Amino acid sequence: RASSAASRASLGAVTRDGVRIEVGANLGSVADARAAAANGADLAGLVRTEFLFLDRETAPDVDEQTAAYRALAEALGGRRLTLRTLDVGGDKPLRYAPVPPTANPFLSVRGLRFSLVRPDLFRAQLTAIVRVAVETPVTVLFPMVSTVDELRAARAALDDVLRAEQASPAGLRVGAMIEVPAAALKASALAPFVDVFSIGTNDLTQYTLAAARGDGGVAALGDPWDPGVLRLVDSVCRGASDRVTVSVCGEFAGDPGAASVLIGLGVRELSVAPARVPEVKQAVRELTAATATTTASAALAAPTASEARATALG
Ligand code: PEP
Ligand code: MG
Repeated sequence: RASSAASRASLGAVTRDGVRIEVGANLGSVADARAAAANGADLAGLVRTEFLFLDRETAPDVDEQTAAYRALAEALGGRRLTLRTLDVGGDKPLRYAPVPPTANPFLSVRGLRFSLVRPDLFRAQLTAIVRVAVETPVTVLFPMVSTVDELRAARAALDDVLRAEQASPAGLRVGAMIEVPAAALKASALAPFVDVFSIGTNDLTQYTLAAARGDGGVAALGDPWDPGVLRLVDSVCRGASDRVTVSVCGEFAGDPGAASVLIGLGVRELSVAPARVPEVKQAVRELTAATATTTASAALAAPTASEARATALG
């Protein structure tokens, strides 16, 4: 019985008209990776590597990081491992790498911006990622990309590490997180540099509505169903060439009703908390991609978040 539940869990998520959607899990520990595998995730769609860096006095070195990423890969049993490079700054400061105090940490040195001003830390992390990528399929994901120049610089750092390691891992893919409205609008300019766009709707919503995450006073404004956010997701899907997979890894990916709109817009991968994987796979199996396209158009045209949500659920 347990084994038949496990084999059902690992069945793919295919819409009624035959469109395959990869359903991944968001991870922050080896326990999460085990839960992802047990719940039938197709891949780890987002590993928040901050768990290795926070609450300590010194940065983890290359060997420690390599061992940690390898442990995740082992728990995932060969599934693709999407390793996001360090996403600190903002509300997640590091004791050993202070950034100057600022009134607006969310608008300051965070995500990829931080890695680009700390090339020593960035290089160590990329080295560990490349060492694991020669053993298992890996996507390296850069958070908080705002400009083409940043993405070029990140790719150059990765290329340097590949040269130094004399490695050319066949399964290595490169992704940019789309969390900044300008990046969503420039998706077609960013596409030549990546294989994957991973839309972080948590941050994309906060920056689009100018409503800070976790700020109760503006919580109602920070709604990913806002048609302004949906139009940015549409811009990312249109800007992605056929070669570039569009994924959503924010909380919105697991919202009931979101699957139809996102798939209708062109998203082909959803990454959610491990426990939500079976439900999201089931939601995908119950929908038709052709109908989802109509739903998505209606949601884009809706004047308000609640009307967009109603279109999808109705
Ligand atoms: C996001 O911003 O949607 C995201 C997935 O990243 P995080 O929640 O870690 O900022
Ligand atoms: Mg984010």
